[in-house]
Order: sequence, then structure tokens, then C-alpha cells
Amino acid sequence: MKCDPTLYRGAPPSLAVKPRLLRHFLLPLLIILMTIGLGYAGYRISEHFGIRTLSETGERQLELHARTVESELGKYTYLPSLLELESSVSRLLADPSVQNRVTVNQYLEGLNRRSRSRAIYVLDTTGRVMATSNWRDTDSYLGEDLSFRAYFQDAVRGQPGRFYGIGSTSGEPGYYLAHGLEEQGKIIGVAVIKVRLEALEERWQRARLEAYVSDENGIIILSSDPTRRLKSIRPLSPETKERLARSLQYYWWPLNELEPLERENLATGVEKVTFANNNQVVTDQQEVSYLAQTRKLNDTPWDITLLSPLQDLRREAANQGTLVAVAFALLAFLLIAWNERRKVIATRLAAREALQEANNQLERKITERTTHLRASNERLKGQIRERRQAEDTLRRAQDELVQAGKLAAIGQMSTSIAHELNQPLAALRTLSGNTVRFLERGDLKVAADNLSTINNLVDRMGRITANLRSFARRGDDQGQASLGKAVDAALQLLASRMEESGVQLHRELNDVALKIDQTRLEQILVNLIGNALDAMQGHTASPQLWLEGEFNDSKYRLRVRDNGPGIDPEARKHLFEPFFTTKPGEQGLGLGLTLSASLAAAAGGNLSVEFPVSGGVAFVLLLPLVQPAKAEPI
Ligand code: ADP
Repeated sequence: MKCDPTLYRGAPPSLAVKPRLLRHFLLPLLIILMTIGLGYAGYRISEHFGIRTLSETGERQLELHARTVESELGKYTYLPSLLELESSVSRLLADPSVQNRVTVNQYLEGLNRRSRSRAIYVLDTTGRVMATSNWRDTDSYLGEDLSFRAYFQDAVRGQPGRFYGIGSTSGEPGYYLAHGLEEQGKIIGVAVIKVRLEALEERWQRARLEAYVSDENGIIILSSDPTRRLKSIRPLSPETKERLARSLQYYWWPLNELEPLERENLATGVEKVTFANNNQVVTDQQEVSYLAQTRKLNDTPWDITLLSPLQDLRREAANQGTLVAVAFALLAFLLIAWNERRKVIATRLAAREALQEANNQLERKITERTTHLRASNERLKGQIRERRQAEDTLRRAQDELVQAGKLAAIGQMSTSIAHELNQPLAALRTLSGNTVRFLERGDLKVAADNLSTINNLVDRMGRITANLRSFARRGDDQGQASLGKAVDAALQLLASRMEESGVQLHRELNDVALKIDQTRLEQILVNLIGNALDAMQGHTASPQLWLEGEFNDSKYRLRVRDNGPGIDPEARKHLFEPFFTTKPGEQGLGLGLTLSASLAAAAGGNLSVEFPVSGGVAFVLLLPLVQPAKAEPI
């Protein structure tokens, strides 16, 4: 089955990079943008609600101050019409004599003082001042023609004349209220009262209130801020400007426009306006924004506008916006920190789990390994047991072999032993017979000599059998042997054969203590010397045997050398093999060298063979010393 190779294709690298890019660059950017956005939104919302609250408060204040202005103006509304009731005024208008004028002047003067108005005066229907309260003053209106004044023109037509303007004589601003004086349904003159309204402005200033009153032409006639006074709140058309210039309502005042830097209509009668700051003592800002609330003043064509500064509100909104931004930034920071912490905890948990898993695996492996070790340990123990058993079997076999070898050697020696024992036995028989006869004769001396000889012969026979017994006895791997004694014992055992062959012995040995059982050493020596004697017998004219010893580190090296015929190369290969023998018939068993080598090895030494150039054979026995120190030659 063929697999689609595209299934195994790795994701494009861009996909792998994206999440990191998002986390490291886009996320902080997004947080910054959201912080700014939310801060701005907080600012706008706070400003919106602040404006609403401010507008509610402003509305109440506007109402209050509008009422105050209305009541202030209302106080004087009926005063001009009262002059209609004054007969002296009618008389003056009918007969403008000096007497009548003086009377009315004095009357008006008193009335003006009591009403606390600026001036009260009476005009005839042509607009000339007939009598006035300020008749004593140098700038008295008396005789002046005020027919150009709008309030006169309205009043002479029977309409109430309301007018705010600047006095053409005094140049003083004031509120003019005019009333057409009627007599029998006909207008005979006009009564005018001029009042100052500065008290209102002063009251606003004391209350730190920003407000202004604009008249029907849109000219600010009262303002808490003197710089705004006599400025138009809306653009004046050229016709209006000409009309106002003609009526001299505002005298020659330039009537500049009050130009707000910014204006935004929020609702009817409510707008947001921004002016350049004229009063930089209060605040050092370049511009000042207000919530402007306007309301009509009853019984007048005027509007009152209350200006509530937005500065504090904006500061508060900015604070709220900053607070929102900071809170969001903090929240974002906390969320990021929480997320990072969550990741760290997750990583730690994963690491701990991985560690736990690794630990479990390790424990599993340890358990497995322990099981294996235990099994192999058991196997090893089994092998050791088997090896020990094999060793025991081997040792037993070795012992058996040694024993067999010994017995074989005894068998081999039996002829010479028999010969050895037969001779003294025959001598004993002869001597004992002779001794009996010497005793019967009473020759005690000869009998005693014979008995002494018999004693010596018995001793010799005892030594021979003792040697045989000790040779036949089972030995062990432990123990130590005296080389001198072992050589003596071996030579003793083989003495008759040596004598028989007439071998010349060269003994160059040290009396050393060797780590081997005494009997075993004797047995090895008997084997080696016996073999040498066998080899030389009948082959060598003057047989010689060398027993040479030398120290070799912690061991002692004994050479048993003869000048026999040597060993042919073929036989050399099989020398240490059991039952290899070249001896004819019953003479050889082929166990001597095998046993000797194994006894030497069991004692921590070894047996080897050398073939000297001078001829013969040299068997080299290397055995460990009990005390590796030199001893005297023996
Ligand atoms: P056995 O003496 O019963 O033959 P050994 O193991 O003692 O058994 O000797 C094995 C053979 O080694 C002998 O048959 C002999 O041929 C040879 N051999 C041993 N010693 C000598 C020696 N000194 N010179 C010549 N041949 C020897």
C-alpha cells in the first residue's frame, strides 16, 4: 500500500512562528492600543455624564439667576406708567411753562431718588426732553432731542419701549424703559426711566458666576466678565449695523463679535463653547471651555446665558480615563502574569510527571536488572556449586590417583622390597639359629653380638616398612615439608636400587621448608629419582644423578638431572599424560609424572622438563617457600 507523502510533510515554518510573533509583538501592541482606547472611552463617558450633571445643576442656577434678573427689571416696569397719573406732568406737556417745568423737575428728582434709578425724564411727542430728574446736573438731558431713540419711537406709538443702550449725553450704559403717556386716548408725551444694572454684574462676580445677558440684537449688555460686554454673540448683518449706528443705541461702540474658538450644540439652549483665555491669572491655559446654557428672560427680548466651566469636569474625566487605562493595564498585566504562572506551573507539573515517569522507568529497569542479577547470581552460585563439586570430584579422583600411583609404585617396588626384606630375614634366621646354639654352649659373648646384629637388622626392616607406610598414606594440600628430610626419605626408599646401579649422587641442595605435604614431596622425589634410575639402568656406563637446588623469588627450584639416554622427541609430547609409559610389562604404569605434576600444581608450584645439551633429562620442580629466605646448603 502506498501512502500519500504529503501527509508526512511538516507544517510550513511560518505557521510555527506565528503564535510566538503574536505573543511577543502583537499582544503588547494590542494591550497598549486597548489601554489607550479604554482610557479614551472612560474619558468620554465620564465627560458625558459630567456634562449631564453639570447641565442639571446649571439649569437650576440659570433659572435662579434668570428670576433674579427678571425681578430686578420688573421692579421698574410700571414706574414710567405711573407718571400718567401725575397731573403736573400732563400740565407740563400741555403747557411747557418754566413754572410747570420746575415743578415736574423737582417731582422727578424726588421720584428718582426714592426709586434709586439713574434718571427719570419726560419727553414731548417730538422727542424733546421736557423735564428730567437730573435737571440740576451739567450734563442734564433737559431740552435734548431723543426722538432717534428706539424706546421713544416705540413708546410714542403706544408700545412699551425697552431698550438697553449707552446714553448719548452721559455715555453711560443703562436700561431704558419708556411709556407713552396717554390722555383721553391720545399720546401726549413719553415717560422714560433709566436704570443701571451693574449691581447684577457685581453680584455675579461676587458669586464667581460666569454669565451674560444678550439683548434682541445679540449684543451682550450685562456680563460678569467685563471684556465680553458689548460684544455680539452672533454676526451682525450690515443692515443691523447701520440701524444700530443710526439709533446710537450703543453709542459709537465697535460691537465686536464674541468669537468662540469652538462651538458645539448639545441640545436646545445648551452648547459647549471654547474661548481664548483672557484671564490667565485664574488659569494658565490658552483656552477655556464652558457649558453654555441659555434661557429667555420673561417680559424682555433678552436672553440670559450661564457659563459653567468644563475645566474641572475635564480634569475629573481625564482622571477617570487614566484610572480606567491604569486599571485595564493592571488587569492585563495580572492576566499575563497569571497566564505565565499557569504555564510555569504546567511546565513544572509536566517536568515533575516526566521525572516521575523517568523514575518509574528507572525503578522498573532496576527491578528488571535486579531480577536479572539475582538470576545470574543464582546461576553463578549454581556454577560455583558445580565447580566446587567438580573440584571435590577432581580432588577425590586426584587423591585416588595419587593413592593408586602410590600403590602402583609399591607394586613396582615390591620385588626390590621383598629382596630388601628377604636378605635380613635370611640373615635373621641364620643368626637366631646360631645364637641358640651359642647360648647352649654358653658362649654368651657371641650370642650377644648376634642379638645386637639381629636388632640392627630388625631396625633396618622397620625403617623400610615405615617408609612404605608413610608413602602409602594419604596426604593433603596443606602442610609444609622439609626438603632435606624428603630427599633423605626418598633416597632411603630407593637405597637398594641405587646401590645396585652404582649411581653417583651429586647433592647440591638447601634445607628449605616448602609449602607442600611432606609425604607428597617424598612421593614426587621417589617418582623422579626412580625414573632417573630406571632410565640409566643398563644404558649408562657411569650413571650420575644430580639433585640441584636454587632460590627463585618466593619459590625453590629443584632439578633432578641424570645422564641417561634422554627421551625421544615423540615421547616428549606425551610425558605428562596419564598411563604414558615406555617401560616394559608390569614395570611401568605411566602415572608417576602425571601424579607428580598434579601434586606440585596443587601445592602452588609446577613440574617441567628440560633436556640439557650435555644429555640426559632434567626434571625441574618449582615449589613455594614457607619463608622465602636463603638456607644453608645440605
Ligand atoms: P612409568 O615410570 O610408570 O613409566 P612415569 O610417568 O613415571 O611412568 O614415566 C613415564 C615415562 O617417561 C617413562 O616410561 C619413561 O619412558 C619416561 N621417563 C621418565 N623419566 C625419565 C628419565 N629420567 N629418562 C628417560 N626417560 C624417562
